Amino acid sequence: MPPAPGTVYLVGAGPGDPDLLTVRAARLIGKAACILHDDLVPGEILSLAAPDARVCNVGKRCGHKYVEQQEIHRLMIEHARAGHSVVRLKGGDPMIFGRAGEEMHALREAGISFEVIPGVTAASAAAAAARISLTDRRAASRVLFTTGHHATPDRQSCPAYAPNTAVVRYMPGRNYAGIRDELIRAGWPADTHCVVVSGAGRATQQICRTTLADLGGAEPLPAPSILLVSSSAM
Ligand code: SAH
Repeated sequence: MPPAPGTVYLVGAGPGDPDLLTVRAARLIGKAACILHDDLVPGEILSLAAPDARVCNVGKRCGHKYVEQQEIHRLMIEHARAGHSVVRLKGGDPMIFGRAGEEMHALREAGISFEVIPGVTAASAAAAAARISLTDRRAASRVLFTTGHHATPDRQSCPAYAPNTAVVRYMPGRNYAGIRDELIRAGWPADTHCVVVSGAGRATQQICRTTLADLGGAEPLPAPSILLVSSSAM
């Protein structure tokens, strides 16, 4: 189905390889009148947009300007009210650390119809790249998606040690020693397996396999990167 005028589509762009878009995402990107995308979305995916589409980077840096979340809401609503079909394009899955909650709230309040198109989240892309089954039943019965970036400072990012658990840390940054210290304080053993995947599913992909003890000394990989941690072998 072509995108409907006046509707906003919160679309997951996946980890960056156009082949990892869903068919629905690719169709919407190719037909939408307006695309508001995050920094994480690479040019190869944006080049699928219609030649006359308005394509705007509303990621953390738009040119050199920071686009406030409120401004993103305003742009989505303004374009939808003007009768355009709007694709709000986010890296990975729009519902995982993607501020989709705030955007859906703003759209609901404004009475704009919207749809969510899931995407391959970075955790899945990284696990595939490193050939790790996060829920291998011999090793883990649960997976925790975590980040150190919070809306409020009182949130705890580091889960207490638990056996049979895989932890995924989005936005790990470059301070691996800090993450190691946090995990060790939370009771994770020094021989816990850690894998950092940078640019999962992209031509630039890099993988670093280490243990918690050695994580602090590992060379930080370029963004975007993600950390997989497991109490069992990976
Ligand atoms: N909604 C996205 C996550 C947005 S938060 C998703 O579902 O994947 C941004 C973080 O996602 C990055 O800091 C990084 O930790 C992770 N990420 C996104 N794309 C990635 C990729 N191709 N490889 C590794 N990590 C990635």
